[in-house]
Amino acid sequence: MSNPLKRARIMIDSEVTGPSGNSDASTPTMTHHKELWFDDGSVVLNAEQILFRVHRTTLSTHSTVFHDMFRIPQPPGQDAIEGCTVVKLPDSSGEVEFLLKALYDPFFFDHSVTLLMFIEILPGMLRLSTKYNILQLRRKVIAIYLERFPSTLGAFDSRSSGDQVLYPWYIMSLVALFRETNALECLPCVFYFCSCLPMSDLLHGCDEVVLSWEDKSACLMGREELLRAQEEFSHSFIFKLVSPPNCANPSVCTRRARRNLYIFHHDQSPLSSVFALKLFTDWKMLDGICPACLSKAQLDHQAGRKVIWDRLPKFFGLESWDDIEKVKQNWADNHSQQGN
Ligand SMILES: [Zn+2]
Repeated sequence: MSNPLKRARIMIDSEVTGPSGNSDASTPTMTHHKELWFDDGSVVLNAEQILFRVHRTTLSTHSTVFHDMFRIPQPPGQDAIEGCTVVKLPDSSGEVEFLLKALYDPFFFDHSVTLLMFIEILPGMLRLSTKYNILQLRRKVIAIYLERFPSTLGAFDSRSSGDQVLYPWYIMSLVALFRETNALECLPCVFYFCSCLPMSDLLHGCDEVVLSWEDKSACLMGREELLRAQEEFSHSFIFKLVSPPNCANPSVCTRRARRNLYIFHHDQSPLSSVFALKLFTDWKMLDGICPACLSKAQLDHQAGRKVIWDRLPKFFGLESWDDIEKVKQNWADNHSQQGN
C-alpha cells in the first residue's frame, strides 16, 4: 500500500493566521476535533480539515494497518504537531470521527441503532473498518446490518417489521457498499429488497443513487426468477390450489380458493410484484376450503419459502449461501493473520 505518512503541509488555527492576521489562502485551515483531541495523545490523524489527536497504542491494538504503519521509522522532516507525527488520511472527516468514537467509547453501540445511524454512520464505519482492518468493529457493523438484511430465513422472519429501513435509494446504495467491503453475506437479502422496488428506481436510480449496470442486470434477472418462484413454490396456492389425496371434494376447494383469493390477486398484482419471501398470514381468506387443503397450502407455503431462500443468492448471480460462508471465513482468516 502507499505510504500514508507522506509529507503533508499542516497548519492549525493560530499558525494559519499570523501576527499580521493574513492567512495563506492556498493552505486550508485545520481545526482540532473538540472531543477527539487528547492531551496525552501520541499521533495526530488529519482527515480533510479536521485533526484528531489520539493514541498509537489504541489504533495499533485494533487495526493491523495502523499497527504496521507505526512500525515503519518516520522519515526526517515529518510534519508534527505538539510532538505528534501527523498522519494524513484520504478519508472523510465525518467517517474518521465515528470510527474513532466507536474505538474509544465502549458504549457506542449500546444506544439503539437509529435510522440516522444506519444512514449516516454505519456505511462509513463499515468502509473504514474494512480498509484499516479493524476486524472486531467490522464484525459488529456487519452483525447490525444482518439484523436488517439477514443471511438465514429464520432471522429474516424474526426481523422487527416496524423498524425496517427501506428507502429505495438506501437499499440500492447498500449493494455497492457490501460489494466494496466484501460483506457478501448481506448481499442476497439486499438484492431481494431491490427486486421489490419499482422498475423505474432500478433502472434510473433514486435520489442520485444509481445501480451499476452489473447490479441492474443482477436485479432484473433475480426479479424474473423470483416472480417465477413465488408462483411455483412459496405462493403456489394463490395461483392454483392443488388438493391433497385426502381432500373429499377437490373441485369445490379449488373453486372456493380461487374465488376467495381474487382479492389478493387484485391487490398484489401477482404477475408483476415480488412477494416471494413474504409470510402469508391471512389464511382466513381461504375460509370454506377443507382442513386437508388448508393444511397442505400452509405446508407448501413454508417449504416453498425455504426453497426460494436457499436459491436466493443464485437468483442474483452470487455464490451459494455455503460458498458465501466459505469466502467470509477465508477473508477473516487472511485478514486476522495480517499484522503478525
Ligand atoms: Zn379440500
